[in-house]
Amino acid sequence: MVADKLHHIKSTLPQGVKLIAVSKKKAPVDILEAYQAGQRDFGENYVQELTDKYEELPKDIHWHFIGHLQRNKVKYIAPFVHLIHGIDSLKLLLEVNKQGKKINRVIPVLLQIHIAKEESKFGLDEQELKELLTSDEFLACENVNVRGLMGMATFTKKVDQIKAEFKELQGLYHNYRKHPHLKNHAFTELSMGMSQDYTEAINFGSTMVRIGSLIFGERN
Ligand SMILES: *Cc1c(COP(=O)(O)O)cnc(C)c1O
Repeated sequence: MVADKLHHIKSTLPQGVKLIAVSKKKAPVDILEAYQAGQRDFGENYVQELTDKYEELPKDIHWHFIGHLQRNKVKYIAPFVHLIHGIDSLKLLLEVNKQGKKINRVIPVLLQIHIAKEESKFGLDEQELKELLTSDEFLACENVNVRGLMGMATFTKKVDQIKAEFKELQGLYHNYRKHPHLKNHAFTELSMGMSQDYTEAINFGSTMVRIGSLIFGERN
């Protein structure tokens, strides 16, 4: 089942768009089923759940942290996380840099942008993005690699609104790609699109779609 769904979704993705299988709240056996079907990139939202799964599952899995990350928990995932998608403040970025330095690792991250018209979602607005990139603290960071931007559209059936939000994020990505303070960073990724809106996201240049329920079924 999981394998069929994975293969179907993959067949709809253009080349260069990576599928992150979002496995939060799903059991390790479900992840293994996807793993055996060739999937290597998985997304998790909770630190404890991620570290448990990391211990238990094959070590060549690329673990993406896609949830809201608390600063005091960065240290638990710093040694192995493949990409942290939800950096939504300079303080959090500095903590990731600090933990990276301790273990002599450059940790790949995405900056999360608030595009949804919903208060409940996290992320930076354009002004905050600009301030972060131009701060002296950011310039001094040597143990993070900012790989691009991430965002979540409003949870709505209004396709025009979803399109407008993805378009806004795509615009920011293109405007900031050449920012001089990003020249030591491989800023090439745009993480947007989930089960309900990933085809729209791809039309607006997404390079990473984060899909859970379409692969693993609804979560409780
Ligand atoms: C849960 C989650 C997803 C996947 O959602 P689905 O609707 O199950 O595809 C994607 N991104 C983030 C940030 C999530 O929290």
